[in-house]
Amino acid sequence: MSQTEYITSIGLEVHVQLKTRTKMFCGCEVRFGEPPNTLTCPTCLGLPGALPVLNRGAIEMTIRAGLLLGCETPPVVKWDRKNYFYPDMPKNYQISQYDLPLCLGGGVPLYDLAYPKDAQKSIARPGKVVQLTRIHLEEDVAKSTHHSSFTTIDFNRAGTPLMEIVSEPDIDSPEEAAAYLNSLRQILVYGDLSDADMEKGQMRCDVNVSVRPVGQTELGTKIELKNLNSVSAVRRALHYEIGRQIECLRTGIPLIQSTRRWDDDLGETSEMRTKEQAHDYRYFPDPDLLPVRTPDLVAREREGLPELPHAKVARFESDYGITHYDASVLASDRALADYYEAAARGATAPKKVANWIINTLLAYLNEHSLGIADCPVVPEKIRALVDLVESGALSGTQAREVFADLFADPAGDPAAIAKAKGFEPADTGEIDAFIDQVIAAHAGPAQEIRDGNDKAANFLTGQVMKLSKGKANPKLVTEAILAKLRG
Ligand SMILES: [Zn+2]
Repeated sequence: MSQTEYITSIGLEVHVQLKTRTKMFCGCEVRFGEPPNTLTCPTCLGLPGALPVLNRGAIEMTIRAGLLLGCETPPVVKWDRKNYFYPDMPKNYQISQYDLPLCLGGGVPLYDLAYPKDAQKSIARPGKVVQLTRIHLEEDVAKSTHHSSFTTIDFNRAGTPLMEIVSEPDIDSPEEAAAYLNSLRQILVYGDLSDADMEKGQMRCDVNVSVRPVGQTELGTKIELKNLNSVSAVRRALHYEIGRQIECLRTGIPLIQSTRRWDDDLGETSEMRTKEQAHDYRYFPDPDLLPVRTPDLVAREREGLPELPHAKVARFESDYGITHYDASVLASDRALADYYEAAARGATAPKKVANWIINTLLAYLNEHSLGIADCPVVPEKIRALVDLVESGALSGTQAREVFADLFADPAGDPAAIAKAKGFEPADTGEIDAFIDQVIAAHAGPAQEIRDGNDKAANFLTGQVMKLSKGKANPKLVTEAILAKLRG
């Protein structure tokens, strides 16, 4: 039997740390890398008698996330205690939301470029939207670090606003799970809600996965995976676990509803606990916090919603005439999209600006391990440089040389650098003479052009470029050759 005789259903629970200045229920600052237990107070330490005060900003941000993902917000939401006994939560309950969360329904669109690179050519369902169950807000717990014979605990993280985004078991493959996480991250970054970096723990993910034979309607036994610290770990863990579950079904080993831990080094999952040992959280409404009325908050957030990646792609295509692929690359990162737009606005050829940024600028940044936010060259100079090429003042090769100088000395001016390098616009009389010379020397190709074969002009253009030692503008040369031979 092969994998095609089984159906996989995957659901993701994603925890996202919101970019608020202060914690969820107290005024302590949210900051990373501070000495342990320095950003604390009686409330986030869970001391008896300390009362929580709601962080309005965190509620607004969660509502914004919901609007960006097409969720509904109930008119009244409330806060519940999720009871459990664990050192990272010394008041013995976590404040969360049970039956009236901030967001219900909605979905995450899977962007083509969010799939792993090797999977982008074989996307099973392009344009798929993964349905969401809910999004709720809760407080993060403290961070335990296990040493050889003791454990330390840091409460700086305790009480950080944490948004939990729960999907339906609507994801069909490890590749879709990866695309879901990458697309979700893009949207959260666009909404300025979180940096959502999994490697930094700003976005954490639990995965539910079940497998069933084709033809069976009810879902198979749900198994939860923990300890997934990167998108690629999620993908690898799912591949392993799906294979394991199919093997169990194939050989008649019963699957038990359970939680398993992914070991990234071994590349295996192993059982942590079965359902019988699962927690009963005994949720009940938190008596210290009033429910929140949401309609005014929703209305206000709706006013200032940012443009989403897919909307930006469509606008870039129509406003600047660039391809869907180029628009998708540029919109995949909000800072990159802003950079492109600053360079393309007012440019003679916005399409060339896109090519230049994607092919030359990104390669340079990559080589220097820089992000677009740290790019030394301002977008206006890219526009000026591409305009020089378009006007025929610089050839593509010359422009790349000017760009190299500009990257090293960003204060420079493209036109001035070109002049200093002796890249004067080629003498048109001289180029014209080269064109005549080349046409005379290559009667065959010249006749082909007269007969209507435009492609033959490439060869003649190449010859003129050689004679001009690269100074001529190939686009203008081709136009001149065609004009001469066709009249
Ligand atoms: Zn505090």
